[in-house]
Amino acid sequence: MESKNWIGGEWITPQGEAIVVQNPSDTAQAVGQIRLSDQSHVRTAAEAAQAAFPQWAGLSGAARGEYLYSMAAVVAENSEELAKLASQEMGKPISEMRGEVTRGIHLLRYYAAEGMRANGSLIPSADRDVLQYTKRVPLGVVGVITPWNFPVAIPIWKIAPALICGNTVIWKPSEIGSLTATRLSELFAAAKLPPGVLNVVIGKGREIGSTLLEEVDLQAVSFTGSTATGRVVAESCARRNIKYQTEMGGKNAAVVLRDADLKRSIPIILSGAFRSAGQKCTATSRIIVERAIYPTFVELLQEAITSVKVGSALDPDAYLGPVASADQYEKVGGFAATARREAELVAECVTPETIKERGYYINPLVVTGLTPDHSLVQEEVFGPLAVVLPADDFAEAIELCNRSVYGLSASLFTQDLSRAFQFLEQAEAGMVRVNQETAGVEYQAPFGGMKQSSSHSREQGQAALDFYSEIKTCAIKHSF
Ligand code: NAD
Repeated sequence: MESKNWIGGEWITPQGEAIVVQNPSDTAQAVGQIRLSDQSHVRTAAEAAQAAFPQWAGLSGAARGEYLYSMAAVVAENSEELAKLASQEMGKPISEMRGEVTRGIHLLRYYAAEGMRANGSLIPSADRDVLQYTKRVPLGVVGVITPWNFPVAIPIWKIAPALICGNTVIWKPSEIGSLTATRLSELFAAAKLPPGVLNVVIGKGREIGSTLLEEVDLQAVSFTGSTATGRVVAESCARRNIKYQTEMGGKNAAVVLRDADLKRSIPIILSGAFRSAGQKCTATSRIIVERAIYPTFVELLQEAITSVKVGSALDPDAYLGPVASADQYEKVGGFAATARREAELVAECVTPETIKERGYYINPLVVTGLTPDHSLVQEEVFGPLAVVLPADDFAEAIELCNRSVYGLSASLFTQDLSRAFQFLEQAEAGMVRVNQETAGVEYQAPFGGMKQSSSHSREQGQAALDFYSEIKTCAIKHSF
């Protein structure tokens, strides 16, 4: 398979550099190749999105919703193929990838229905002859820049609300998810989405991503990715006074109190830390445990980790697969080497010899013995590495939990209702949960972080509609 751009309804293969996509589960296998776009493709996409905007914005919400229902139906018909392609492209186990595609379908249906829901409110006027109301209006052309770790769900949770609000979109997927992005676009084209409503440009972030940010007449940018790139996006958009949302890194804590049901909590914590090889922005990377139960916790964790299986992404029994790319392998491998040098090992899951050398496999590791300010406790690893920190009591556990520049997600494990409530109140994170993993949030609820994790708006649920539209306050004096 070869990546293609989808611009103004046409399929265009850029003539730029070709990069072979190696399967991270087995790097000897080529999954396809991507062709890098140049700046001219971004400009053409911008013209197409501008041209398509008036007609798309002029449709009724119900009509736009019908397109989204069709997109959901075509993705559903092709879900297995799409999931397999993504698993092969970025290494997420097929069992999880199927779930992600299903999530994408649900998101398309959820936002399709928004076309038929109230999109404003009636505000009483002081003058009885005036009818005053608000309505949402689309922004115009929106830029969508996505990462590789959820190559189907993240693009859909941006594109679907953008479209239902009446915007047209230019989507710049991650280099690593570009084959999946091409296939997803083909499915949207099969759903007969009108030309130019969604335009997809494949290429390097620094090149075409920055052309999109700096040169195109965008009205908003929705970005998910690293904190460093998010800052670049935010600065550029702020300079231009256009709307932006940046969803970025995390260093999410699971706090385990002395009264937690450890047998039930530990599998949930392991899932938060190691599913998707820890490559979720909401992955659990710090485990804060009350000292009173620390020895029991470690013993049970060591036992539970034996059920974690590292496997190739298409292995239906794989708990986690490889990390996504050579860059990830090097970066996460560096953190793992530091952990082996500077921390005490709590638990490790060994990659089977049969696959170890074939792909970008990194043994899941749980370590301890680090100071709260150590880089492994503070920096986002984005891989299968979790750090355990003992805490004397609840107060110290909260202090450790909040001792981070990030504030995306945090979980507490307890049976004490009062502690649970205090945690939900005091934890500095956009998503706070009790007796659930830090990952695994639901699409109908707002998603986003505090502190350096986000630009403080929210994605998904009804919150996404606020981002992709602007409120107009209308007043008409009807007896004049
Ligand atoms: P990244 O920042 O390297 O890339 C994200 C996207 O930005 C890619 O499409 C990339 O091509 C593009 N890009 C890179 N440089 C750019 C530039 N100068 N101008 C415009 N675009 C540019 O991130 P990644 O490695 O793809 O993803 C991993 C990161 O994403 C992690 O930090 C993770 O925490 C974060 N993430 C956050 C969330 C969330 O919702 N908070 C969700 C998933 C992933």
